Amino acid sequence: MKNTTVLISGASIAGPALAYWLSRSGHAVTVVERAPALRPGGQAVDFKGETHRVVLERMGILGEVRRRQTGGTDQTIVDADGRPLAVLPGAFTGGDVEILRGDLAALLYERTEAGCEYVFGDSITSLTDTAGGVHVTFERGAPRTFDLVVGADGIHSNVRRLAFGPESDHVRFLGYYYALADLDTGPGGGMYNEPGRMVALGGPKSPAFFVFASERLDYDRYDVERHKRILADAYRGMGWRVPELVARLPEARNLYLDSISQVRIDHYARGRVVLLGDAAYGNTLGGFGTGLAVVGAYVLAGELAAAGGDHRTAFRAYEEAFRGYAKVARQGGAGSFLAPATRRGIRMRNRLFKSRFLLWSMLRMTDMFATDIELKDYPALTGTSTAT
Ligand SMILES: Cc1cc2nc3c(=O)[nH]c(=O)nc-3n(C[C@H](O)[C@H](O)[C@H](O)COP(=O)(O)OP(=O)(O)OC[C@H]3O[C@@H](n4cnc5c(N)ncnc54)[C@H](O)[C@@H]3O)c2cc1C
Repeated sequence: MKNTTVLISGASIAGPALAYWLSRSGHAVTVVERAPALRPGGQAVDFKGETHRVVLERMGILGEVRRRQTGGTDQTIVDADGRPLAVLPGAFTGGDVEILRGDLAALLYERTEAGCEYVFGDSITSLTDTAGGVHVTFERGAPRTFDLVVGADGIHSNVRRLAFGPESDHVRFLGYYYALADLDTGPGGGMYNEPGRMVALGGPKSPAFFVFASERLDYDRYDVERHKRILADAYRGMGWRVPELVARLPEARNLYLDSISQVRIDHYARGRVVLLGDAAYGNTLGGFGTGLAVVGAYVLAGELAAAGGDHRTAFRAYEEAFRGYAKVARQGGAGSFLAPATRRGIRMRNRLFKSRFLLWSMLRMTDMFATDIELKDYPALTGTSTAT
């Protein structure tokens, strides 16, 4: 059984990372991306620990990632008068190496565009799994048949919906929303909390970063003007520099708002369709999404090569190798950590950052999660024996 043509939905991190390995191991890869071009996006994502480092190294991009790194910036937590209360260390939010998501996506795209077919501005509308391949229809392009289809299209995955069922069956809303706004926020930054609400200015993630507790909201995910209104409503009456910030929201050049949610799915594969990255183990702002996507791409491609293209064996092995590692994506919730619901919760969270021991323990735990997988050597991918 030889599976040679692969359609990947999503050209952010997981998709191009898999495209890199699959094209190296002899597959004909097509990547379809809904956005009209590679999506820029100024937020930082990070890698931590030995496993991430080894995979980036095997991909030959570690040096370039380091060259483009943003450098973990400390964030000062302030009170309503701007007085410092505690410091959120860059090492905590930025891992070992931090890079803008858009820069990483561009880097992966540069490494794969010559060897793969990229189709922008299109999306899959149906998948029919047959004995001979998956028949795929598109919003714009003509129908085609592929041996395999991979959903690397994020936490709101289209492929997951088409092949596994509605999002409500697989995505758990965690009671918070977050937003990133590209705004001129003036000099100085800081992170400010009131119960259930947080604003960070000038931090490592974005010029303005918001996290707020909320009931589930009903809105169009692509209606940015509505996102601005949601944000203005959520932040009404908050202190510090927030009124000035809310007044400037209409000027935001880029604004991205989404729920804080977790993916919970029993199996990553169904027939010839498989999920990768946030589509399979997304956990918004959980801090592991990019590492999981890159390591997952390596393992999935490696198992496909090891199984000689037998997708059933390969998908089973990918799931067995990865399920334990991806458990980290079921950890806690960034929402209640970044925007605790009570004043007491805010004080306790701030105290955490004043204790060297607690901070050290948290960083150690993070490192343990990030390295909790026995990374196999897949000679068909790397061409050498490089087992760790
Ligand atoms: C614009 C943007 C900003 C982000 N900002 C942050 C951040 O600040 N911090 C953080 O930790 N993580 C952020 N993430 C998520 C982070 O990139 C992922 O957690 C992680 O890198 C795993 O990546 P992924 O490729 O699995 O999913 P994603 O990065 O979410 O990528 C999914 C890709 O699929 C595409 N797509 C969606 N629907 C379709 C469809 N129907 N057809 C084809 N393509 C489709 C999307 O446009 C996107 O390019 C962001 C993601 C995006 C897209």
